[in-house]
Parts: sequence; structure tokens; C-alpha cells
Amino acid sequence: MLQKKELPKLNEGFARIVFCHNENDVEATIKAYTALGPLDTLSNGCFGQKNPDAKIQLGIMKFLKKVEAPSNVGSSSDSVQDSAYPQASDANNICCKGTAKESLLLGVASKEVKESENLAKGSVDDDVSVDEITTLAFPSISTADFQFNNETASDIIVEKVEEFVNKLENARLVLVDLTHGSKILSLVRTKAEKRNIDSKKFFTFVGNITQLYSQGGLRCNVIANAANWRLKPGGGGVNAAIFTAAGLALETATKERANSLLPGHAVVVPLPSDSPLYTREGVSHVIHVLGPNMNPQRPNSLNNDYNKGCSILREAYTSLFTGFLSILRSRSKLPRRISEKLALTPLDLKDPSLDPRNHLTNSDQKIKRDDGCVYERSKKCKGANDETVADISAPSSTYGKVTGDKSKLEGPTSKTWGSWAQALYHIAMHPEKHKDELLEVLDDVLVLNDLYPKACKHLLVLARHEGLDGLVDVHQEHLQLLMTMHAVGLKWAEKLLHEDSSMVFRLGYHLAPSMRQLHLHVISQDFNSNHLKNKKHWNSFNTAFFRDSVDVIEEIKNHGKATIKDEDSQLSMELRCHRCRSAHPNIPRLKSHISICQAPFPHALLENGHLVLAPKT
Ligand code: AMP
Repeated sequence: MLQKKELPKLNEGFARIVFCHNENDVEATIKAYTALGPLDTLSNGCFGQKNPDAKIQLGIMKFLKKVEAPSNVGSSSDSVQDSAYPQASDANNICCKGTAKESLLLGVASKEVKESENLAKGSVDDDVSVDEITTLAFPSISTADFQFNNETASDIIVEKVEEFVNKLENARLVLVDLTHGSKILSLVRTKAEKRNIDSKKFFTFVGNITQLYSQGGLRCNVIANAANWRLKPGGGGVNAAIFTAAGLALETATKERANSLLPGHAVVVPLPSDSPLYTREGVSHVIHVLGPNMNPQRPNSLNNDYNKGCSILREAYTSLFTGFLSILRSRSKLPRRISEKLALTPLDLKDPSLDPRNHLTNSDQKIKRDDGCVYERSKKCKGANDETVADISAPSSTYGKVTGDKSKLEGPTSKTWGSWAQALYHIAMHPEKHKDELLEVLDDVLVLNDLYPKACKHLLVLARHEGLDGLVDVHQEHLQLLMTMHAVGLKWAEKLLHEDSSMVFRLGYHLAPSMRQLHLHVISQDFNSNHLKNKKHWNSFNTAFFRDSVDVIEEIKNHGKATIKDEDSQLSMELRCHRCRSAHPNIPRLKSHISICQAPFPHALLENGHLVLAPKT
């Protein structure tokens, strides 16, 4: 692609394309990518393109000769998108840390080199779609260990993909194989091309299915496992790799769903958030699928009966794709994501607000818990469309064990919290299990460092009371608790000021928190943190979305409850410096401004104890 100087397009499978028009752009972009943590991400989309109709990138070869990729960067050599399908690797070869996640196009349009505005405009700010593409990565079922004929298997894969691809809406399917020159990949690719299957919806990818994101830059929320009938680790190939990569969490979660699997069937297993596959790769579900076995050395061999084999392989793919559709379906039923409201380190998969499992309505909970059921292509799911998925999740069917303690998922307010959004709640309820993370534990509150600090110093003071999810649950009887939280927060701010007297702290609550369990933010006003990445992060601490602890206490004293309104509008407000109130077009600009702004804080903040400063000497 670079050779031909063609411009990459988002619909080729890139998550993010950044057009650089001069070396400043390149530098700024590399900086933005280098600042990312291993699980961080930038918004998807196309940034900095001046002429969207242009077909070729001027001067790219000249640029490539001139610029060498930084030594600590580079794409994974063994994870490349297949050639006839979207090419993630070409551009990745010249990009930095971000290659693992995004595609960065470094180009110089020689005549257009004027300013770096466009790049800066789009680089981190989130004015383009931030939607993730839900992706199922699946290995070819039965063709390796079970020795199913590649040619026949590829026909079935393409047939099944074609059947399902139009039901996917925004999602996509990716056939993955570890080896370059994989026969099954090339057969499928050729056949899919012939059938004109939309390459945005389906493509092939060479890479390790357990490292697609960290090594290949391909984000796949769901991966399929070519499982054995016992649903146990072991054997070789994909099954062993997935169980090893996912850790014990997958074994346990699988056991909760099903103990065995029949050929042609699949079982969807939501991956616990402590699984490394979840935290490192962003995989939220594993779908175990069992295909037909043609290998006489393995159990239940079909003795070369391809009639039966083909029928079971079709069933297996149907079960797999039906399972995937059920995940999509439960996601599409989600209420508007809090991540859209607050976008706290989205696809920073550690962040609960990005995890759709944290945004299930009560009725979704059922789907969530049921999505671990066993899917089969049988009388129960003929046609295998969305409706049949609904049937599948009906309690009367023969599915895996449904688990989930609803009471734990629901708070006292109408909001329902998923597993990840409960981290603070669990810490508050069981501090003994989190000793290493805690700075202080008292009867009513405890203190810890924010895991994704948005400033140099960012602590959380957690209420330890059951039934207090957020400000909305706070009433007159909690006044004493709020005062304790404030006093403890203040004590820690003062302690930190003792270490660095140049700091300034602010104590407050988010109007609409992303995490369950009332928590007070104690945050230094430098906002010097790589975790602070977008407008919503900024505005959540620098608009009325952030309710100062002192004001909340006053309101509870006077009215018995805190005022909670306009939370949405606050987060989309323009970016303004919290000191001089100057406006800035994007986060990089704002950050570079605040790093030097010495203007006094606004009066409103300086009054009534809103800010905590070192005592004047
Ligand atoms: P809020 O939007 O007020 O709910 O903020 C929740 C805060 O919790 C965010 O600043 C997150 O960075 C932080 N956070 C998320 N998970 C954890 C965790 N496991 N431990 C500590 N802080 C966390």
C-alpha cells in the first residue's frame, strides 16, 4: 500500500489513521502514542486528512527515506493482517508504541505543509466516533488437530460467514491463524473475495489468537476456542493457548457454564475481569466451540464420514456465530454508555465505564447471565437469527448453569452496576483482601490511590457503608459520614502538601460516578497525567460535574440531599483552563497550556475551602 502510495481507509480495518503533514505532526503523534499505557487507546477515526477525496499520499516515499522508526517501537512481526484483506501491518511498520493498537500513517504532503492544526485537532480529542467495533476472532474449527479437510472446511466457513455477516451490524468476524502461508486462510480469503463478502465485516488475520491486541494491534472482544469435549485445558493448539493465556479464571468461568460440549455446539463464557486475557487483550468473552473430529487418534472420530462431518461443522459455526450475535444483542440493549458520558480511559480496558458488562439494565442482566448458555443448532435455534438467540436464552432451555448474584449487581439506586464497576465496592466491603492497595483503613472510610490517576496525586476516599453507590444515595443521615470523608481527604491532601508544597488539591465527587460505592476524589490541580486523555476526563474534574465536597456538605446540611443535575451537558463543554479560563481546542493544547499557566485560580475556587493549599510561610 505504501509502495503504491495509496491512502489507507478506515473501512480497510484500521481503527485509527493519523495523517501527518510535517515533522511536527509526526512528533506530536508519536508523543501521543508513546504516552499510552499498554491498555490505553485513542479514539477511533481518521484524523488530520486535509483532502478526504485524495487517493494517494504525496511524498510518502520521500518521508519514509527520511524518517526512521524509533528504536523502541515497531510492529509485531508475527501478527499481520493478511495481504488480500485489510493491511494493518504496512503502516504499523513505521509507527510507535501505538502500533499494537492503532494504525498510524506517517506521511508528508509536501505542498500542504503549513501547520499542524489538523493533527492536533483530531489527535486526542474525541469529536469523532468512539464506538468500538465488536469483533469475533475465531480459528478454523477442526482443520488442525481434528484433521478436517481444508478445502471443504473453507467452503463451510465462507458459507457460514456469508450467512451471518449481514446480521452483524457494526461488528465483524476475523478468521485467525498463527502461521504465515496458512492454507485455510488463503482458501477462505480467496473464496470470500469471490463471494464479495464485505471485507469490513470479515477478513483473515495472521497472529496468535491470545495476543491479537497486544501483538497484532487487532482488537477482538470475543475469541472463539476450538475446545475439546471436556472443556478443559490441555491438548495443543488454540485450546491450550487460550486456557493458558486466560488463566484459571477461564476454567472456573467455563465450569460455571457447562461441563462438557457436544460436537457442533458452543458455549459462551464471559471472561472474568481478573483474567489476563481480559486485562491485556480486552477479550470479554470466550466462545468454546467443538467441531467434528476426523482424526482417529482423537475421541469420537467420524471415520471420514464427511456427510456427518460437514453437517457438524456447519452446526459448529452456526452455534459460534449465534453465540456472538447474542453478545452483540446484549450489548446493543445497553443504555447509553457511561463511557460516552465520562469516557474514563476508554478501552483502557481496566476502566469500568468502557466495559459494556457494567451497563446492563435489569433485563439485560438476565441476558448477561444467560449468555453463558450452550448454543446449538438444533430445533431450538433453527435459522440461527437474532430471534433464535432470544429463544436460546429462555430459561426453559437446556443451557449451562446460570449464575450471578443479582443483589450484588444492583445498587440501592435504579442504576445497575456490572462487575468491573464494582471494584471500589468490593474494596470497601473487603479491605482485608486489598491490604496492599490501601493507604488507610478506618471504621467508616478507607483511602487508596486512584488506579488511573488524572493528576500527579489522585486519591480516593471510599465510604465503607453498604448501600451508598454515589451522591444520589446520600441523605441527611449521611452528613457525619461525608464530614469524615472530607476530613480524611483533607488530612491526606495536607500530608501530600507537606511533601510538595507547590501542589494544590481539590476534594469532590462526580455527579454521575462510573464506579459503584461513594468515593471522594482528592486530586492535585496539575492534571499532569497520561491517564487524562480527553475532554470528558477534563470536564469531569473541571466543570460542575465535579461537586466540591464542601458544597455537598452544605447542601446536605441545608436540604438533606445534594443537587444532581445537568451532568451530561457539563462533560461536553469546551475545554477551559481551570486557572485562567482560557479556551483550548484539544487536550494536547490544553495540557501544554496548563503546564505553564501560573494565573491565580478563579475566586470561586479560592473561597470557602474549595482548594487546599500549603499554608503560607
Ligand atoms: P468516578 O467517575 O467518580 O466513579 O471515578 C472512579 C475512579 O475510580 C476513576 O478515577 C478511576 O480511575 C478509579 N478507579 C477505577 N478502578 C479502580 C480501582 N480498581 N482502584 C482504584 N481506583 C479505581
